[in-house]
Amino acid sequence: MPASLVIKPRCRIFHGHDWIYASDVDKYHGGPKPGEVVALKSVKGRFLGSAIFNSNSQIVARRFSFRKEELDQEFFVRRLQRAVEYRKTLPLDQSVCRLLWSEADGAPGVVIDRYGDHVALQTLTLAMDQRKDVIVAAIKEVLNPKSIIERNDTLIRVPEGLEQQKSVLFGSEPKPFSVKVGGVVLNVDLMEGQKTGLYLDQLDNYGKVARFAQGKRVLDCFTNQGGFAQACAKAGAAEVTAVDSSEAALHQAHANATEAGVRLNLQCANVFDFLKEAEMHEQKYDLIILDPPSFTRTKSSITAALRGYKEIHLRALQMLEPGGQLVTFTCSHHITGGDLRQVLIGAGADARRSLRRIDSYTQRADHPIICGIPETEYLRGYAVEVIGGW
Ligand code: SAH
Repeated sequence: MPASLVIKPRCRIFHGHDWIYASDVDKYHGGPKPGEVVALKSVKGRFLGSAIFNSNSQIVARRFSFRKEELDQEFFVRRLQRAVEYRKTLPLDQSVCRLLWSEADGAPGVVIDRYGDHVALQTLTLAMDQRKDVIVAAIKEVLNPKSIIERNDTLIRVPEGLEQQKSVLFGSEPKPFSVKVGGVVLNVDLMEGQKTGLYLDQLDNYGKVARFAQGKRVLDCFTNQGGFAQACAKAGAAEVTAVDSSEAALHQAHANATEAGVRLNLQCANVFDFLKEAEMHEQKYDLIILDPPSFTRTKSSITAALRGYKEIHLRALQMLEPGGQLVTFTCSHHITGGDLRQVLIGAGADARRSLRRIDSYTQRADHPIICGIPETEYLRGYAVEVIGGW
C-alpha cells in the first residue's frame, strides 16, 4: 500500500488540474517520503490517482495518472511512446522537436527534446530526478539515440531542492551542429545552448512573423540566434537590424546568417538602451519584434516586469509610422494574454497610436496546452498594426 494524501474538497485537482499544494492536503497517511509515489484520495475515500510527492516543494504532489501506477521503465516507455505518436500527428519538423513535455504528457518534471540523433533530458521534480536511470533506459528503448545529454542547469529545479547539473548520460558529447528548421539555420549546442539547446517553442513563429517582412525595415529585439531576423531577411526585408546583449548569441547569429546566405545588421546592446538611443535619433522602422526573456519568475515581480514591458512597447511604437507593425511576445505564464493586451493598450494610448490586432501567437504545438492546467500555456504573442489617423 503506498502512502496517501487526503485532499480537501473544491481544490484544483477537482477542476482538471494535476497539482496539490500543501494547503490542499487534509491528511497524510503512511508517512510519505519525498520522491515517493503516493495515492490521492478525496475526504470520502474516493481514489483520485497516483502522484509524485515532495514535501519540500510548495507543490507537494503532482498527479501523473488516474490509475494506480508505478514509475518503472515500462511506465516511461509507454508515456514516451504516446507522446511521440502524438507529435507524429503534428505538422512540424519531427527531427527538432520537444517529444515529451512534463505535465502536458503525463510525466510531471520530465522534458525530452530531440535534436536529430541526439536527445536532451531534464528531470525537474525530485521524484523524476531520482528515476533518471530508468528514464534514460526508456529513452534508449524507444528512440535509440546517439547520445543523451542531461540539461538540468535550470533554476526551475531550485524549489524541488535539486542542484544544477549538466552531463552526458549516454553516448559521447556531440559537437555543436547546425539544423535548418522552416528555412532558418540555427546552431544546436547541446552542452552550452540556451534551455536544452534551442528555443524550440518559437520555431513556428519565425515564418508566421516573416510574412509581414517583405520590403520592410525590420528591427528584431532580443534576437538570440537571429531566428526572427533571419526569417525576415529571407522573406525579402529591405534591411534587418537585430539586437541582443549576449555577444556569444550574436556571434552565433552571424554564423547562422552567413550559412543561410542573408545579411543582418547585428547590434550588441541592452534593448532598453538601444531603443532609447534609436528613438532619440528619430530612427524609424516598419516592423519591430520584441521577444524578451521572462522578466518575471514569480508572481510578486509581475508589476516591475509589466513596467519594463510597457517601456519597450512605448518606445517601439514611437518608432513606427502608420502601417508599421509591432510583434510582441511574453514567455512567462505569470503574464497572461490579457496582461500583454493591457500593455499594448497602455503603450498605444501613451504613444497616441490606434492599434489594430492582426495576428496572435502561441508556443509550438510540441508544447501542448492542457485545458485544466493553465501553466501549460506560457508563450503568448500579438502582432499589431499602427492605424493612420482616421
Ligand atoms: N527571439 C529569440 C529568443 C529570445 S530569448 C528566439 O526566437 O530564438 C531572449 C534573449 O534576450 C537572449 O538571447 C538574451 O541574451 C537576450 N537578452 C536578455 N536581456 C536582454 C537585454 N536587456 N537586452 C538585450 N538582450 C537581452
